[in-house]
Amino acid sequence: MTSPAKDPEALLGTLLSTIETRIIPLTAEGVASGSKLFGAAILRKDDLSAVTVATNNEKASPLLHGEINCIQQFFSLPETATSSRPVSKDCLFLATHEPCSLCLSGITWSGFDNFYYLFTYEDSRDRFSIPYDIQILREVFRVPAVKGAQESSEQLERRPLYNHCNKFFMAKSFADLMDEIAGGEEKKCKWRGEIERVKKLYDGLSETYQAVKSQGAQSASVWK
Ligand SMILES: [Zn+2]
Repeated sequence: MTSPAKDPEALLGTLLSTIETRIIPLTAEGVASGSKLFGAAILRKDDLSAVTVATNNEKASPLLHGEINCIQQFFSLPETATSSRPVSKDCLFLATHEPCSLCLSGITWSGFDNFYYLFTYEDSRDRFSIPYDIQILREVFRVPAVKGAQESSEQLERRPLYNHCNKFFMAKSFADLMDEIAGGEEKKCKWRGEIERVKKLYDGLSETYQAVKSQGAQSASVWK
């Protein structure tokens, strides 16, 4: 039998339901108290069960992004003979939003060899008015070509912000995963609708976050 992690349809269905039933309820509490709406989960590759689920807690520290919180909780689980904490390479990493530079590094340093995300950086900027993932990667990490080398500003602009497939991990959006599902347009159409339905669940969360932020909620976050 194929492992559910290797069946793109089973995987996409589980990732969407993990967001809807496990991450969103935590996120609703987080945004109501002034934290951003980014969440994450770590799942076992063998049966796709969730090991840890977390959301952003920037109220306490600007470093407590959803992914970092999730990794911290994962490593606080005891590692015993009947381990409740699997090794990182046997897990899937789910991020509701494409991970920022901090979280890309956190995922890498923690030994996860993959991650999947629902919203892209462009979604975070355009749907959620949170432009910092792109800004930080461009300003801090994207070094222009050395003097004399040929690279126009358009080429620089088009250069990917990180390697989606590299020595450490393979990153896939839910749209990438959907493209891997075999079958006709009808099936793809169903999954496209399902992805959009779960994305829409974030509209209300985003409104709450922006409203609570504009009311001056207490938060340790610097880039809001
Ligand atoms: Zn992050």
